[in-house]
Order: sequence, then structure tokens, then C-alpha cells
Amino acid sequence: MILAKRPNAGARSAARKEVMDRLLARFEWPVEEEFMHSEFEVHSDPVRKVHVVQWPRESAHKEPAFERYLHEMGHALLAEKVHPQFSRPSFLRNTDPALRNTYQALFDAALDWYVQALLMEIAPDQQGADLDARFRQTAQMLRQGAALPSVEFVVDAGMALASFQRFRGLEADTQGKLTEVVQAFLRTPPDKPTLFGLQSLVRGLLGVFGMHTASLVSEKGFERWRIDAVKKD
Ligand SMILES: [Zn+2]
Repeated sequence: MILAKRPNAGARSAARKEVMDRLLARFEWPVEEEFMHSEFEVHSDPVRKVHVVQWPRESAHKEPAFERYLHEMGHALLAEKVHPQFSRPSFLRNTDPALRNTYQALFDAALDWYVQALLMEIAPDQQGADLDARFRQTAQMLRQGAALPSVEFVVDAGMALASFQRFRGLEADTQGKLTEVVQAFLRTPPDKPTLFGLQSLVRGLLGVFGMHTASLVSEKGFERWRIDAVKKD
């Protein structure tokens, strides 16, 4: 993150406070804060109907960037308003850890597609700058002929390009799997978050790689993801 020079620091913190107030006003569940944790994390508890922001102790030097704080609070707001799955992906207990590792970034990106749209509404300057930065970074990697080595890279690159197209109106030239990922995102209206839409997006993204699909199933009263191999015959 680029730190503002001293004369702008006051204006910047005023702008941040305004964004935070706008964001916090949208919550109905109380937002509690806990200090002295090892990491910054936000937990949304659908049973107690409360959000808990965990701040790292100062000595850990892990104070999140403002953008990260906004992003996690965006997840929390969607978890409250739409469904707890919007907080972070939750998988069936017996999910193969290797599969989860392979696709974790894909499930995260599907949620982030909605978080971004929400933040474009609440914090358009901050979120817009973030989109632009991700687009520049992705475009540069693709120009340098970066191979598409992992699910994570293809999905993150695809989301950066899809976001730029949706919110900035500029289409990028893509091929192959990357085009399919961009299209899967663009088919999903991010300003209308629903569990059904999320599941369709996840399936659309998984379909690009052709090996697995996923569905939300109920385990002890909570919806969790089940990942299944695609049957080939
Ligand atoms: Zn996220």
C-alpha cells in the first residue's frame, strides 16, 4: 500500500472514516472487537447473530491494510444479509484436503465477485483503485506471456479481467480457459447475491477445468460444499 504524504494524511483518514461509517451503518448484527490476537480476522456468527473483528496485537506487526479491512467486512455484511457461506467457503468435514487446496482460490474468488460489487457501492474510490491495480498487474503478467499454471492463477486473472469489464467497461483480449472463466463471472450478476447464484458461479468456474463439480449440502443444519469428481463415460 502506498502511504499518503503527511499533508494528505488528515484528508485520507477523514475519507476512511466516512467509508467505515457508511459500511458499519449497513450492519444489523452488532460488530464486536477483540484485541491481542495473532492475526487480523473477521468472524460472522449466524447463531449468535454477531460479527467479531479480531485485531492483531501490536507486536505482531500484522495490522491489515484498510483495503483488507473493507474486504473482510464486505464478506461479513453478505454473511449477515444473504447467507453464512458468504463469510468464507465452508466444506464438508470429510473433504479431501488436496482437493480443497486445489480449489480453495476458486471458491474464494466466487465469493469475492460479490464482495467487490458491494464495495463498489460503499467504497467506490478504494475498491475502484484496487480493481485497477489488479487489472494492471494481470495484464502485465499476460503480456509477459505468463503461462497459466494453476487453477488459482487462471481464476484470479479471470476475475481481475471480468471486474474491469463489468465496472470499467473495458474488455480484454483473452483465450482458452481464461475466456471461459471471464464469461462465468460475467454471467453472474454480482449485485444480486444469492446462494443459488453463488452455486451456479462455482459450478461454472469448476466446469472450466472439467474435473470436478460442487454442490451445497446440509451438514448438521449448516450448508457446506461437497466437491465431486465429474463422471466420465
Ligand atoms: Zn475475500
